[in-house]
Amino acid sequence: MFKLSRYFSIASLVAIIVVVTALSMYYRDRTTDTMMAHQTRSNAALAQAFVNSVWSKYAAFVTSASDIPAAELHGRSEITALRSDILAQMQDLDVVKVKIYNLDGLTVFSTDATQIGADKSDNTGFQQARGGEIASSITFRNEFYAFERVIVDRNLVTSYIPVRTADGTVEAVFELYSDVTDLLEELNRTQVQVIIVVSIVLGLLYAFLYLIVKRADSIISTREEERRENEEQVRYQAYHDPLTGLPNRVSFNERLNETLARAKRSKALAGLLYFDLDRFKNVNDSLGHDAGDQLLRVAAKRIHGVARESDMVFRMGGDEFTVILENLTHAEDAARVAQRLTDVIAEPVQLLTHTTTVTASIGIAVFPTDATDADGLVKAADAAMYRAKQAGRNVYATYTADLNLHAVERFTLEAELQQALKNDEFVLYYQPKVSLPDGHIIGMEALLRWKNPRLGLLAPNKFLSILEDTRLIVPVGEWVIRTACQQNKLWQDSGLIHTRISVNVSASQFRDRSLVNTVRDSLKETGLAPQFLELELTEGLLIDDAHGAIAVMNDLKELGIFISIDDFGSGYSSLNYLSRFPVDILKIDRTFINNLMTDHKDAEITHAIASLAHALKLGLIAEGVETEDQLEFLRSHGCDEAQGFLFSQPVPADEFGRMLTAEETTLSTSKVNVTASR
Ligand code: C2E
Ligand code: MG
Ligand code: MG
Repeated sequence: MFKLSRYFSIASLVAIIVVVTALSMYYRDRTTDTMMAHQTRSNAALAQAFVNSVWSKYAAFVTSASDIPAAELHGRSEITALRSDILAQMQDLDVVKVKIYNLDGLTVFSTDATQIGADKSDNTGFQQARGGEIASSITFRNEFYAFERVIVDRNLVTSYIPVRTADGTVEAVFELYSDVTDLLEELNRTQVQVIIVVSIVLGLLYAFLYLIVKRADSIISTREEERRENEEQVRYQAYHDPLTGLPNRVSFNERLNETLARAKRSKALAGLLYFDLDRFKNVNDSLGHDAGDQLLRVAAKRIHGVARESDMVFRMGGDEFTVILENLTHAEDAARVAQRLTDVIAEPVQLLTHTTTVTASIGIAVFPTDATDADGLVKAADAAMYRAKQAGRNVYATYTADLNLHAVERFTLEAELQQALKNDEFVLYYQPKVSLPDGHIIGMEALLRWKNPRLGLLAPNKFLSILEDTRLIVPVGEWVIRTACQQNKLWQDSGLIHTRISVNVSASQFRDRSLVNTVRDSLKETGLAPQFLELELTEGLLIDDAHGAIAVMNDLKELGIFISIDDFGSGYSSLNYLSRFPVDILKIDRTFINNLMTDHKDAEITHAIASLAHALKLGLIAEGVETEDQLEFLRSHGCDEAQGFLFSQPVPADEFGRMLTAEETTLSTSKVNVTASR
């Protein structure tokens, strides 16, 4: 992450080093220059003082020294005199050596006697002084011979100073060495002090600015953090479903593509489970949206619980979920996961105050067996799910090549259904309802069959959903009502028992405005008395729009017909609608009867429904009775009417007519009146 303070610190450090170095170099230059100028002036003044006091004694000797042979020079008395004069004048000063040259560059005198006679004409300092200018330089010497002693590690300023005659011409050159070691040390000390002070000031300045920068840094990083969090949140929202917290359709598409790309590379299998909660809408409608939401959360949690670490679970929207299974070893493993999923979903769930069960239909497709791209795989899984639903819910189905056939089949059926009514391919089968005390027929249910020219006789589970989806159910339902009325009237007119016929009405049919008119017209046209007609409605149909339903039911009741609730107990409705709807009869759902002898709870429920019907003074009938045991149970629990294979399968009209004739015979002998009692 970007840290302002880090860059600031580095830059400050560099700046401080540069400033301090430059300052010390500048300071050193300046002080050395000043020191040199000062020392040069001081050397010049010393030389001048010497010239003023004793030079006149030696001027002639020096200027003419070139004429004296070198060997002699050392022994000359002037040298000795000069030496003592110089020592007398300069010994207690900083001067450590004095040399005198004549204009030829000959060293006429030196406090270091060994140098006397040496030629210095090439020396630039000498040449400059001979030209009339003072020349100074600084040097460091490890060891130096000064007057009577040797000195070590010294800094020396050497000045070549011209000696002039009264008229100003240069007649000799003095060279003075002064020891500036102490002075330089002093200068160094002050330089160090200056550097320390400057460093401290800069350091303090740095510390102060650092605090400000640090603060700025923390503000920047908080902002950055906030921005990142926001970004993450937006990203999370874009990729997740807020209700269940599962990744959503957008992430599904991405992940599926990634997974398939990986599977393609590694030549592995990948599975896709597509599933849908059965009758979720029912829960939503009857228990409310909060319960619906809760159900979705529970489902999501259960699915997640079953999934392996590497599986990815998504909510696609509504009650649809998907699971991507990566690295499948066998295609059958997908089915195993699907089986576990259907099992956990089907466990009872506590929604608000209700405990209920919901099931899931799962479609399975495997890559690359069923499809070779993401789009195809989704379609395959979806088609498989559709088949699972068709197969009766709470099941999983795999995608197989014949699924396409299945889709084609549905398509064909749909086309055929469009013509079925016109071609007179529908028939009604009739199933008797009997009274339990004596086994007499007390009514019948008309059940739709389709004589498909290709496939033969088909039961409603093969085509009812298509009728509903295409809304063909309205004209077909109208045909059913009319035919049922007509048939009943026919039986009555042929002298058979007068009994009630019941007709099933599906939701879309019930919601169609034409229903009441259809019933009224059918009764009128056929001449059937209204008390011989009963409509079987399902719970869900009443709950979707309770208000509208009550209005329609009241209209129907006004016609004088009977209304029953089919498959009672299978829906999720509250019981309070029972008192509000004008209902006459409850038809206990077949699944309870089915499990009556094996499931203690179903027996309890059946018993409770019977009590409820008695309390509300409603008629009661059990459907799907197949065994004597069931019959016995119902009888002993106050259920007086039943319907089921135990008595008869649904049969065609002529066969049912014969049943009625036989019944008529029994009835006339037993003299029991079983005409419609309500
Ligand atoms: P439903 O109204 O609950 O009808 C009872 C179904 O249970 C019938 O199936 C009947 O054949 C079957 N059944 C009767 N007794 C027994 C038994 O003892 N054991 C077993 N296992 N089954 C028994 P079907 O005729 O296949 O009808 C299925 C459903 O189709 C009906 O359920 C009803 O909801 C619907 N349906 C039938 N005819 C029509 C119709 O004309 N219009 C509409 N809208 N729906 C219809
Ligand atoms: Mg029915
Ligand atoms: Mg039923």
